[in-house]
Amino acid sequence: MVSTIPRPLMSYDEVLQLFEQAADDLDLEEEVRLLLRMPHRELHVGVPVRMDDGSVCVYRGYRVQHNGARGPYKGGVRYHPESNLDEVRTLASLMTWKCALSDLPFGGAKGGVQCDPKTMSANELKRLTRRYTQNIAHIIGINRDIPAPDMGTNAQTMAWMMDAYGQLEGHTPGIVTGKPIALGGSLGRESATGRGVVLVLQELCSDLGREPQSVRIAIQGKGNVGSWTARLAAEGGFPVVAVTDTSSGIYAEKGLDINALQAHLELGGRLSEFPQGVELTNEELLALDCDVLIPAAIGDVITDDNCDSVRADIIIEAANHPVSYNADASLRDRGAIIVPDILANAGGVIVSYFEWTQNIQQFRWEEKRVNHELARTITTAYRAVSSLAREKRCPMRHAAYLIAVERVAEAIRLRGFV
Ligand code: GLU
Repeated sequence: MVSTIPRPLMSYDEVLQLFEQAADDLDLEEEVRLLLRMPHRELHVGVPVRMDDGSVCVYRGYRVQHNGARGPYKGGVRYHPESNLDEVRTLASLMTWKCALSDLPFGGAKGGVQCDPKTMSANELKRLTRRYTQNIAHIIGINRDIPAPDMGTNAQTMAWMMDAYGQLEGHTPGIVTGKPIALGGSLGRESATGRGVVLVLQELCSDLGREPQSVRIAIQGKGNVGSWTARLAAEGGFPVVAVTDTSSGIYAEKGLDINALQAHLELGGRLSEFPQGVELTNEELLALDCDVLIPAAIGDVITDDNCDSVRADIIIEAANHPVSYNADASLRDRGAIIVPDILANAGGVIVSYFEWTQNIQQFRWEEKRVNHELARTITTAYRAVSSLAREKRCPMRHAAYLIAVERVAEAIRLRGFV
């Protein structure tokens, strides 16, 4: 049976609630709260594109800059048919907290274009990207706001963005991160988010005294993050028992051969046609009897409607906001450990930071150095969160927000914002 992943529903108010809880606990002054409740800038642009058949489509594009107290705004650009201002605003706020938690010198931003990249040709996507970049060019900059890939965009999209921006401002590789290596991208950027997820998983297992071999993992999503998570988890000795994409999935009780699965996909096969396992749907994956569930696709896949069926005791949020606010509370009530997105998927933006610094210095790091610095940065963030969560006997998500909100608030106070 084939199923589709439900459409994203996440809302800014949900992240705001997490912020308010942290602000209450930190006794944050009202004026700083006022400032942090409202994004700094929201830009909505029309993006006209000449399609291959000669017609013109005008797409809706957004860039939201949530907070820049700690440095230039930073965050990806998402191409998705359901992309809308509230979703982009929500994701921008997550970037503020994510960058602060990993102690990166960035604020938070996000971009989005409401389009379906799967139905567009490469030339249409190129024209869309160039026009979107021109239309937001006046608010981005190497010291203002640095876009990166997200859902539906990739290194090629960033190459087009860099080129379109360069036509206006001169060659500026540091204007975007997640570029192809040949254009100043960083070694290790492509695998970075998945690598970060697995580093966090390893830290958590060592905290819990669990050997990788005994930790059965199910991963939702076969895009960049899901694929790298599966590959690196398997390399680390974790049995990856199930993987799904938007339309199909595969399950093998003793663990899938991830290299063979990858080869099967590269030859154009569907996940469900992989011979060494049985087909499963996204709903079945979320309800699977496994140890760790890793949603690595879109937002709000675990909600009020299905959280009672989730059986995994550990959920690692590789996607942004995959567990809704209410579902988060119900899962915790029954003892589940949830590693929040702003920690678990920070690997991507951490290596984006390394890419940006390499571009500014016009110097390339070796991949070993990138991976080493990534491990150091995300492990430091993980340990800060897990020890605060233990100390305060609170969920990891709350601990992560306490750290992030306090850091951003401190930067705001030091700047003397009014
Ligand atoms: N889109 C990624 C995220 O949500 C990466 C952002 C970046 O590298 O700026 O974290």
